Amino acid sequence: MQVINDIKAIPKVQKYRYFLIILASASMLGPLAFLPQLVGSDDLCGSLCMRRFYLYFPGMSWEDFFVHVNAAAIGVMAFSLIMLTTLFFGRMWCGYLCPVGGLAELSSRMLNDRWKIEFRSLPQVQIRYGYFGFFLVAMPALGISACSLCNFITIPRLIEAMSGEYRGMVFLVSSVGMVNLGLLLLLGVFASKGRAYCQFMCPIGAADGLVNRIGANFPFARRIRVAKERCTGCNICARNCMCGAIKMVDKIATVDQVSCMSCHECVDVCDWNALAWTTPPSHKVNEPKRIKKNTEIFPLPNWQAIHFDVNKGGDTKAGPAVSWVSVVNAMILLTVISIVIVGSFL
Ligand code: SF4
Ligand code: SF4
Ligand code: SF4
Repeated sequence: MQVINDIKAIPKVQKYRYFLIILASASMLGPLAFLPQLVGSDDLCGSLCMRRFYLYFPGMSWEDFFVHVNAAAIGVMAFSLIMLTTLFFGRMWCGYLCPVGGLAELSSRMLNDRWKIEFRSLPQVQIRYGYFGFFLVAMPALGISACSLCNFITIPRLIEAMSGEYRGMVFLVSSVGMVNLGLLLLLGVFASKGRAYCQFMCPIGAADGLVNRIGANFPFARRIRVAKERCTGCNICARNCMCGAIKMVDKIATVDQVSCMSCHECVDVCDWNALAWTTPPSHKVNEPKRIKKNTEIFPLPNWQAIHFDVNKGGDTKAGPAVSWVSVVNAMILLTVISIVIVGSFL
């Protein structure tokens, strides 16, 4: 009964999102995996890999690059389509479809909060892009495989192992399998909201976050935006954000577009209609709107994705900034930690 009440209490958009994640997982992962089968694959690796074709190997030429692109042709197409969708609509793949981030999120949500680790307050942008740089350049140079720390290989193999397939079981007892399984549990199932792998380690998510941030400036781009004049600073959206993408600046919510996945949960929980998935305002800032003759006049909401500094002469406080020096420091630190971890398994 309690479970039914809990399900009923889930906001409509979130029910729809969970349904899409389950559908996408059933289509892309074993035992059904009919989308990979359409292109002659049985998992998300090989020609479907979206993580490997942009790696830089020492001394690599353009010819080598195109060989990598060719080897993962379907993955390259999928990656391009994801980035294009993100440019226009925000991170639809990550928030609504990806079976890897999605299944980790759903498993974590089924677990009692007391078992979960809170990662969301860590400096995720610095860690993510530090690791991204390490993944792109240092890992190939050190001869570490792109599959070493990859949830896109772990989840399909885990499902194979659970359905009794030999390949999945062999993978899970290998050293790479054990490291990846640990990663999935630590940064997925036992992470608060289940998206810590997405926050810190997924290269697709890192690229997608950059496109999301750059695209937020375009007039056609739908993003989660804040109407500052409506926000009461109650912090409920920040507590519910699965990616830790909302911070309070001067008691007003600001959305970090490099991390937001457009999941809509903050919009659902805000009682003040201060958040919306929308394009930038086309009206002049603070243009008054008459709601009812002789009764009420108030400005149209000024939906902002990044800063509060659009009002000339108004509040010029900017949203949270990224320290790129910290990104480089994080990259160096993660390089050292990863060499130690991976080295101990070789
Ligand atoms: S960040 Fe990576 S694992 Fe997470 S949802 Fe996006 S593509 Fe999937
Ligand atoms: S839930 Fe709404 S009112 Fe509360 S801090 Fe977030 S945006 Fe502001
Ligand atoms: S800011 Fe809102 S839409 Fe973006 S990830 Fe957080 S809860 Fe989801």
